Amino acid sequence: MRRVSIFGATGSIGQNTIDLIDRNPSAYDVVALTGGANIEKLAADARRLNADLAVTAHEDRLEDLRDALSGSGVEVAAGQAALTEAAARPADWVMSAIVGAAGLPPGIEALKQGVTLALANKETLVCAGALVLDTARAHNARLLPVDSEHSAVFQALAGEDMSAVERIIITASGGAFRDWPLSDLASATVEQASSHPNWNMGQRITIDSASMFNKALELIETKEFFDVDPGQIEVLVHPESIVHALVGFNDGGVMAHMGAPDMRHAIGYALHWPDRRDLPVERLNLAKLGQLRFQEPDEARYPALRLARHVMERGGQSGAVFNAAKERALDHFIARRVGFLQMADIVETVLNRFDAADGLLDAPLTLDNILQTDHLARKWADDAVIQRAG
Ligand code: NAD
Ligand code: MG
Repeated sequence: MRRVSIFGATGSIGQNTIDLIDRNPSAYDVVALTGGANIEKLAADARRLNADLAVTAHEDRLEDLRDALSGSGVEVAAGQAALTEAAARPADWVMSAIVGAAGLPPGIEALKQGVTLALANKETLVCAGALVLDTARAHNARLLPVDSEHSAVFQALAGEDMSAVERIIITASGGAFRDWPLSDLASATVEQASSHPNWNMGQRITIDSASMFNKALELIETKEFFDVDPGQIEVLVHPESIVHALVGFNDGGVMAHMGAPDMRHAIGYALHWPDRRDLPVERLNLAKLGQLRFQEPDEARYPALRLARHVMERGGQSGAVFNAAKERALDHFIARRVGFLQMADIVETVLNRFDAADGLLDAPLTLDNILQTDHLARKWADDAVIQRAG
């Protein structure tokens, strides 16, 4: 039996992971499930899967979780420290599917136990690439990508020599506003940004897809995961979301990975790796699709991509700054304090302020330093919002 833990079990990726485990429950021994405010879902899954432990991120919901699981034998805990403690429990395979930089501390802790970490939480690599990879190496842990583009690249690279790789192309659907006139974007609402044409995902990543901040994070994730130069990574807008990524080799050959837009493919690939197993995803019918379209991204429409290129060149703590400022800007957009286009302005203002502050970006990449950077970048994002309002 494989011991598995799922961080962010109540979210979109977490539920897709549980869907796969539910299809073959006798193969898995569920160690820990974690969630946020949706106590009912967390408790129901922990009970059904007979988890050892259920953790809510919210300390004030501990009693609710305890009540919901009374008589089940499932241990309960709450709060950020409890999440990290849950990651220290022995497991073989751990899904990292918390949204945001909150996923970083449990992810690092899980790697320290030498697990296989299935990484949906791209923020982990954006904020702490070198630290994460070093920790994995030091503890003989394995990192497997779950982001669909990165899973696609990983699959296209199977058996290949990295020195033969010329370029990596990740695709982007273009999100909710792909076909909107540029002049309308300023007034785009939270509701409009929260619906994705092809993928069914959590609200935050869906809005990040509309602004291309998701693709910006993925550019940085690609650089960190595959250790390639920023100049070797390209973004291609592909409205159908069928080709997830392409790898170009030095002989001119290009390997493309295709599949229906269903995260259970990438999750299942990471769950069964290095084997391939039957997965409940729709089979492609290219004749029925008829055509696949590709176009270059318009940087005027998507300033997030330009900012990500700056971060990849700058390195150091700039990934943590970029992510934290983006998370705060998104909070402010969701709270309707700033408009859709102002999110990129806020992130750029915070990046510039860090660039101008002596030494901050070059602090060693330790978890403590990254968390401090994250905290300061959020504060400076708030400052930027206050200045705009003033
Ligand atoms: P979601 O919002 O649906 O779920 C997030 C999960 O994290 C929930 O279980 C929630 O309770 C928990 N959570 C939220 N804030 C937390 C905090 N501060 N501390 C601890 N737990 C917290 O998100 P999602 O769409 O499933 O995305 C999860 C991660 O996977 C993100 O990093 C996202 O970028 C990445 N990802 C998602 C998809 C997708 O299809 N949804 C695809 C690729 C990558
Ligand atoms: Mg992706």
